[in-house]
Amino acid sequence: MASATEMELRHLLAQSCAILYRQGLTDYMGHPSARIPGTDKILLKPRHSTRIRAMDQVRPEDMIIIDLEGNVVEGDLGPPAERFIHTCIYKARPEVQSVIHTHQPMATIMGVAEQPILPILHVESPLVEFGVPIWPCAKLVTDNELGDQLAQALGDHPTAILQGHGIVSVADTVQDATIGAIHLEHLAEANYRVLAINKKPRVIPPEEMRQLKERGVGVDVRWAYYAELAGVLE
Ligand SMILES: [Zn+2]
Repeated sequence: MASATEMELRHLLAQSCAILYRQGLTDYMGHPSARIPGTDKILLKPRHSTRIRAMDQVRPEDMIIIDLEGNVVEGDLGPPAERFIHTCIYKARPEVQSVIHTHQPMATIMGVAEQPILPILHVESPLVEFGVPIWPCAKLVTDNELGDQLAQALGDHPTAILQGHGIVSVADTVQDATIGAIHLEHLAEANYRVLAINKKPRVIPPEEMRQLKERGVGVDVRWAYYAELAGVLE
């Protein structure tokens, strides 16, 4: 797949904001980002403010550009205080092209309760096959030291929980990182419901997961569905 241009990424990030919002994973907080291919620059949703409110209203032209040290290099709007979530993960994981941070409720609650998010739903299970690390810190990630701690906790995983705070979902496209956040929430909800009736869930074994990975629909199909649902399919 050819790498996306800056304009395409701006559009994808605005779609991601709307999808996350309509899925109930964000309100006015949370931010998706994308690495501009071949550069050390990051496109990022700006900080929420009286101008940047509900995430389904954020436009492609609102996105700001920061460098890997968190300095704004383009854009009039302020950067999120927690931009170090993004910069530190991009520095630690050169293959990652998109990072999503949300305060999505069910995954956050499972982190608070220190209950694992197990692979128990077939479509979503590959995301958590190797576990979901929990970073035991509820501070705002406002500097490199905290960002590096989070990136270290994330390790090679696609998702991690910031305990008492939210989650990160990372991938090589904005679409995959966004759908990762959605799938994590589905899995968290399913695990929660099984625990709520005092049952032990059946964990999907690796062999069944392999078949799902090979035969499941591609990310394009899922993205089109969620974009349409959010009213941003173009
Ligand atoms: Zn946060």
